[in-house]
Amino acid sequence: MARILVSGGSLGGLMAANALLRAGHDVTVLERSPRSLEGRGAGIVTHENLREALRQCGAVVDETLGVPVASRVVLNAAGEAECRWEHPQVLTSWGRLYALLRAALPAANHRLGAAVAGVEQSETGVRVRLASGESLAADLLVAADGIRSTIRAQLAPAVQPQYAGYIAGGAACATRRACRAARARRCSTTSASDCPKASR
Ligand SMILES: Cc1cc2nc3c(=O)[nH]c(=O)nc-3n(C[C@H](O)[C@H](O)[C@H](O)COP(=O)(O)OP(=O)(O)OC[C@H]3O[C@@H](n4cnc5c(N)ncnc54)[C@H](O)[C@@H]3O)c2cc1C
Repeated sequence: MARILVSGGSLGGLMAANALLRAGHDVTVLERSPRSLEGRGAGIVTHENLREALRQCGAVVDETLGVPVASRVVLNAAGEAECRWEHPQVLTSWGRLYALLRAALPAANHRLGAAVAGVEQSETGVRVRLASGESLAADLLVAADGIRSTIRAQLAPAVQPQYAGYIAGGAACATRRACRAARARRCSTTSASDCPKASR
């Protein structure tokens, strides 16, 4: 059994911690936020790999994972349906995944308000410094502290995130309203391959 620290208690950190805990290790998540993380909206598409990973993390995966969606509709700039096709999937939200992963991890293995300031490596393990001045020894540190990772900045300072020039927009509205709007825009195309806009 290894003593493992995980820097960052978001989806990546919680997933790593839950999996390592169930593999028999002694794990502690160190999350700098002093409180439970806020939801970040809906629109996460689930798939079997995600469900299997959640199960391996000890999360309960049932019909409350998300909302079943039967089909997709492509609207043009005028709001008219270009096409519609059957595509059954379960969509969920960031907050739902976070809640499942938090519930799977015992409170004793999770610390809030613990900002990692740096790490020293030696032959026998790591020593992790917190911003509070506290120092923690472990066999291994998993850096799951996001795109602006403190640990990456220390160990690989030349590696910098670069803006790729993409912009993505997303929105969610009440299912009942969306269904009414979709029903109002009848569309004869039924398969994605028939729709020139479907790959967008
Ligand atoms: C609405 C929405 C829909 C999405 N849909 C999808 C999807 O369909 N498919 C998909 O793959 N992805 C999707 N994503 C993206 C994915 O969910 C996020 O990228 C995910 O949150 C990344 O998790 P992470 O743990 O790697 O990093 P982050 O969420 O960035 O978490 C990093 C964590 O580390 C903590 N931290 C940072 N520095 C320190 C430090 N020094 N010490 C301690 N803690 C620290 C931060 O406070 C934070 O909690 C979606 C995201 C959103 C918001």
